[in-house]
Amino acid sequence: MATVTFDKATRIYPGGNKPAVDKLDIDITDGEFLVLVGPSGCGKSTSLRMLAGLEDVNDGAIRIGERDVTHLPPKDRDIAMVFQNYALYPHMSVADNMGFALKIAGVNKAEIRKKVEEAAKILDLSEYLDRKPKALSGGQRQRVAMGRAIVREPQVFLMDEPLSNLDAKLRVSTRTQIASLQRRLGITTVYVTHDQVEAMTMGDRVAVLKDGLLQQVDSPRNMYDRPANLFVAGFIGSPAMNLIEVPITDGGVKFGNSVVPVNRDALKAAADKGDKTVTVGVRPEHFDFGGAASDAKTLAKDADPGIEVVVNVVEETGADAFVFGTIDVNGEKRDLVIRGNSRAVPEKGATLNVVPRAGETHVFSTSTGERLSD
Ligand code: ADP
Repeated sequence: MATVTFDKATRIYPGGNKPAVDKLDIDITDGEFLVLVGPSGCGKSTSLRMLAGLEDVNDGAIRIGERDVTHLPPKDRDIAMVFQNYALYPHMSVADNMGFALKIAGVNKAEIRKKVEEAAKILDLSEYLDRKPKALSGGQRQRVAMGRAIVREPQVFLMDEPLSNLDAKLRVSTRTQIASLQRRLGITTVYVTHDQVEAMTMGDRVAVLKDGLLQQVDSPRNMYDRPANLFVAGFIGSPAMNLIEVPITDGGVKFGNSVVPVNRDALKAAADKGDKTVTVGVRPEHFDFGGAASDAKTLAKDADPGIEVVVNVVEETGADAFVFGTIDVNGEKRDLVIRGNSRAVPEKGATLNVVPRAGETHVFSTSTGERLSD
């Protein structure tokens, strides 16, 4: 086991006019499960490949434990990688596939067999050891690929979208298996995905990248509750956080006729920078219903009618009903998503009145995107 440090690690591809990964700084603790997430092209794979030794580091350093591995070849880094396509050898049995790296390393047969059997037991593959990969399901093949990494007992596991070839249902069960296996083995793991749900459910911490730049590295809970900027706010969470640009007025900020409860210091910080607007964020589940159309909590006694939302579409997922509607902000129509009551779904065209819950609104600088509220 070991820590992993990205120390201003930078990768500029030949002919690239800007770094694919720019001064990446992350300290990963011993035994931690760290997920790198972001949209396609943000530099996740490049970061992982620098750690693996498959990509040059042009500036900065990478350390595993106390060792500076920046310029070491992959084989000397004591890592094991699980790729998106498992690249199993089709002519070899499951056991031979799993033990192949040990065989190359000159480990004796009995020892290889022991390690393969141990890994197969953990991965529920014991009865398939003599089969060829083609006689396995996608999920089983994925577990063989995991097994191949486990038998090597590396200091660090690197995983690059290892679930992307599985169907949706299997992805969900396999992500739970991988996360619990990682916790059981306690091996430091760096995992790449473009799927924010996967990132949030699997990682001890999540690192969000955009355009080669680290945006935030945090626990899933903090990432959700306190996104550091507009990009993270919009990227983490589904449906995404409502992000609405509103003018700052003496009375605070308003969606239509309704005053939205936001942090006053945040508004002041924006005004001090000379900004005329802020971008207010509210997650779909952080609205209370009020007004005539409501069947839920009644509005506070004051005169504020709440935000008037005209319902366009309701998406029912069973547990939830997401209401996609339109609101008026300063004379312009804006989209708003609200998690509604799945037992009292409003009709298309209906009008609802909703109130963002105090303490659950986020304020971001419209000009820089940075978070202004605590
Ligand atoms: P991600 O894994 O997040 O999708 P990558 O790390 O693969 O992103 O790519 C980051 C950026 O580097 C992208 O702009 C991509 O086009 C570029 N890139 C990746 N590989 C190469 C390469 N071998 N040569 C040149 N540019 C590359």
